[in-house]
This record gives sequence, structure tokens and C-alpha cells, in this order.
Amino acid sequence: MEEEAVYRILVADSLSPKGIEILKGEKEIKCYVWTNFSPGELRATIGEYDGIIIRSKTTLTADIINASERLKVIGRAGIGVDNVDIQAATRRGIVVMNTPRENAVAAAEHTIAMMLAISRNIPQADASTKSGQWERGKFMGVELYGKTFGIIGIGNIGSLVAERAQGLKMNVIAYDPYIPADAAAQKGIPLVTLDDLLSQCDFISIHTPLMEETRNLIDVEAFEKMKKGVMIINCARGGIVNEKALFQGLKSGKVSGAALDVFAREPARENPLFELDNVVCTPHIGASTGEAQENVAVAIADQIVDFLINKRIRNAVNIPIVSPDVFPVVKPYLDLGEKLGSFLTQISDFAVEELSIEYMGTVAEYNVSPITVSILRGLLIPYMGEVVNFVNASIIAKDRGIRVNEFKSTTAEDFASMVTITAKGGGEKNYIAGALFGTRDFRIVQINDFFIEAVPEGNMLLIQNYDRSGVIGDIGTALGNRNINIAAMQFSRGRLGGVAISLLHLDSFISKEVMEELSQLPNVISVKHIEL
Ligand code: NAD
Repeated sequence: MEEEAVYRILVADSLSPKGIEILKGEKEIKCYVWTNFSPGELRATIGEYDGIIIRSKTTLTADIINASERLKVIGRAGIGVDNVDIQAATRRGIVVMNTPRENAVAAAEHTIAMMLAISRNIPQADASTKSGQWERGKFMGVELYGKTFGIIGIGNIGSLVAERAQGLKMNVIAYDPYIPADAAAQKGIPLVTLDDLLSQCDFISIHTPLMEETRNLIDVEAFEKMKKGVMIINCARGGIVNEKALFQGLKSGKVSGAALDVFAREPARENPLFELDNVVCTPHIGASTGEAQENVAVAIADQIVDFLINKRIRNAVNIPIVSPDVFPVVKPYLDLGEKLGSFLTQISDFAVEELSIEYMGTVAEYNVSPITVSILRGLLIPYMGEVVNFVNASIIAKDRGIRVNEFKSTTAEDFASMVTITAKGGGEKNYIAGALFGTRDFRIVQINDFFIEAVPEGNMLLIQNYDRSGVIGDIGTALGNRNINIAAMQFSRGRLGGVAISLLHLDSFISKEVMEELSQLPNVISVKHIEL
């Protein structure tokens, strides 16, 4: 008779056989592959499993997760975890893990393939040749050798693309406001401003996440700044390059070619860009190599085995590495740390090179390293997205040249516990302090030289202004005219008539136009939007 396995794992979406082999090779694991079920069927049976592996097809709603009595781990073979209700999983103590780095080589190689495809008209020449024409004169190409290649976003994939393009003897430059120039220089990539990149490059490739800040980053104005004849490659996310503006650019001859793996709306079965001869398209297959699929399958299977058998957590997106007995005590600090880190990034106009974190009061009695990890995760997520998890946050920060210093002191002047962070970079610095009120509530208590007491959550505006009469009224009127309700407002000033800050919590999202309008108001020095 078959021995009863200890852990039951359900593979719910198709997974490369190498991953399944790893699970089946473990005596303490019994692996079930079942990929064709309705949500109701999954809900009815999920209670039988200790772990589930999914890709993007299966959605794990709160309803399904709440029915999972013995589930301990959800493994996503790939990056995106939008199909998992993370909060519901966290509430039940279920670890959600992903495999954020395994498809980078595939995406980088696809980018290079796309650049060569447009520079030498390969798809067009292929179609013409196969249709019986022999049009040697028609497909005059452009060489990559010696050309200036601009990479927007030199994270994981952008760096691999840069290395490969350097191998093709291109002159690689990059724009990435969140990476210190030293870290880029170590990779042999000079950092330039976005305007310089746009005006100098023969080829431009985008490798940022899609976020509010990068949506339509390459718009009509950006195309206007480019060289005539530029070629554009987007294998990152649709929506970063504005498709209408790209269409116009291609039509007018300003852009001589574009290669797109991603589209604003996917699946892209129809798109005006498809009508243009100088556009090469692929259906979001940047990560679609046998190796990448195998890599994610092997990685998730290894991580699940490591978690269930060796009790080691890797690439968790929801639960930091804290022992269960101290977790409830440390949890509020983890949340506070993540919020402070995120706030700091969103108010800083410089790439952070050094982070000094001070733990004061009761918090200093604990092992604070998970809190530091939370701070780093908060700091990195606003511009890197969910690729940053509790396990890789420190490594990513180090790779990006961020030095982290931790200090502890057992006394905090005004609060039982306080966490302060100073971020420095490019000769500038920002400081933020947060404190715990009671056992769970936390507040931001200082921003640079200004004392404040604000709940770090929601949609906020940090306005720096001269302390003159009428400023607050002007801000209120400008927002009121746009029907934007102020839910709460804190005000702090140094000396009478000097510089002051106002931190506003708003009930609705604020557009770039309103930000612009606010920054033009008399006596307003700067306006920052923060989303927590
Ligand atoms: P990453 O987080 O490692 O790197 C992103 C980089 O963009 C970071 O260095 C960040 O500092 C930078 N950045 C953020 N905002 C910026 C801005 N406004 N201007 C300039 N730079 C900015 O991410 P990654 O793993 O390298 O992935 C890059 C992109 O590729 C993502 O959009 C990802 O979704 C996409 N991707 C696509 C495929 C595909 O199938 N086509 C496969 C994998 C990844």
C-alpha cells in the first residue's frame, strides 16, 4: 500500500514537467495535477491541500482561500500575484510566494531580437520572400554597430539588455532616476536625463514597470524631443509608450520603426499600429522560452519544498521572516516601516544612495532586521513594483548601490517607540520619523524639520509653502474647484513667516494638471503626491 504523504500539493495551472518532477521526487510530498476546474469545484476541494501552485489562469479569491483549511503556501510560477487575494491569505497565515527573476534573460533576448528585427526588416522581408517576390532593394537596413541605444529603466532586464547591446558594440546610455549613478557606472552605463536620452538616441528601449508615473511616459512631447529616424522597442508593459503618439510618429517619419511585444489593451487582436509596415509585433511573448518556463517551474517547486520541508521562506510576497511568537508584536512596526519607506521614496527627487535607520525605544529590544527589510521593500516598490519581496528587498537595494545603516537606542524622547529614516543621495537628503501609538496605531511624526502627526495611508499631498496668510485658503479653493475633498489636513511650520508644510489626505485621486495648478499658487514651493 502507498504510504500516506505528509503534504498534498495541487498544481492548478499548467506547469513545466521539471517542476512537477521535483515535487514528485520528495517523499514527504504528494503532488496532484488538476488544471480544469470551475471556481466552485476548487472551493469545494481546496481544503484537502497544503500547498497550491498557480500561474495566471487560476484566481484565488478570498472565498476560495477562506475555504482552504490546511493550506500553508500559495506558489505563483511567475511574477504577478494580482490573481491572489493576498490579504485573505495573510489573514490565514498562508505564505504567498512568487518567482520574480526567472524570465529576465528571455525578456532581454527578446528585446535584442526585436531590435534586430526592425533594424533589418526581418519579418517584412520574410513575408515578401515567402510570397515569391525577391525584393533585395526594398529592405535596406540599419546597423546597430556604433549606434546610440537608450535604455529607460535599468533594473533586472534593462541591465541584461545593456550588457547584450554593449556586446553588439552599441553606445549604451540609460535613464533611471532611482538608481545611483555609481551603481550604473559599475555596469559601464552612463546615466543621462530623460531629455538627453530622447534627443541623443538612434534606438530606445523601455524597461520600467507600468505605474502611474510611467504610464504614457513616451508621449507626443517625448517623441518631439527624439531624433528623426529613431526606432522604439517596448517589451516591458503596454501603456508606457502612448500608442496614438507612436502611431503619429511612425506616420510622420519621425520614428522609422517600432517593435512591440506589449500593448495598452491585451490580447491585442486589433490595433491601428498593425496597419503600419514599419511596426513589428509579437503577442507578449518576452518570457515565452522553454528555459524561462522551466526556470519558473523549477524555482517554485524548489521554493515550496524548501518551505514545507526545510521551513525556509524564499520570495514571499506577504510574510516576512519573523518567528511566529514575535510576529504579532513586530507586525505594526513592519507596516510602519513599509509606509515610511514608501513615503520617503515618493517625496524624494534623488536616487537614494544611503539609508540610515534608527530604532528608538521599545522597538530596539527586538530583532529589527525584518523591519529594515520592510522599509527597503516600501522604498523600492513605488518604482519597481511587486518584483520586490521580503526576501529579495535587501539584495535588490544592495545591487542598486544603496548603503543601509542601522542604529538602535533604547530611549525615544517623546514616544515609547520610534523609527526614523534618513535617505541621502546626490547631495540631498530627506528625513522621516514614525511612532507607534498604543500597540497598533502608527503615525508619521516628523518630516524633515517639521513636526506633524499624520496617519500614513491613502491618497496624500505634501505641500511645502511659505508661511503667509491665504496659502491654505488658496489650496482649499483650488482643490474645491475640482471637487476634490480634503479628508484631513496637518500643518507645521518652523518659524513664523518661514517655510511650512501641509500634509493633506484627499478623498479622490489627483491629476497631474491639478498638481501643476497647485504648484503655481502664490507662496507654494513644492507639491508631492504620495499614495500609500
Ligand atoms: P525591475 O523592477 O528590475 O526594473 C525596473 C527599473 O525601472 C528599475 O531600475 C526602476 O528604477 C526603473 N524605473 C522605475 N520608474 C522609472 C521611471 N519613471 N523612469 C525610468 N526608470 C524607472 O523590473 P524588470 O524585472 O527589469 O522588468 C522590467 C519590465 O519588463 C517590467 O515592466 C516587466 O513587467 C516587464 N517584463 C515583460 C516581459 C514580457 O513578457 N514582455 C517579461 C518580463 C518582464
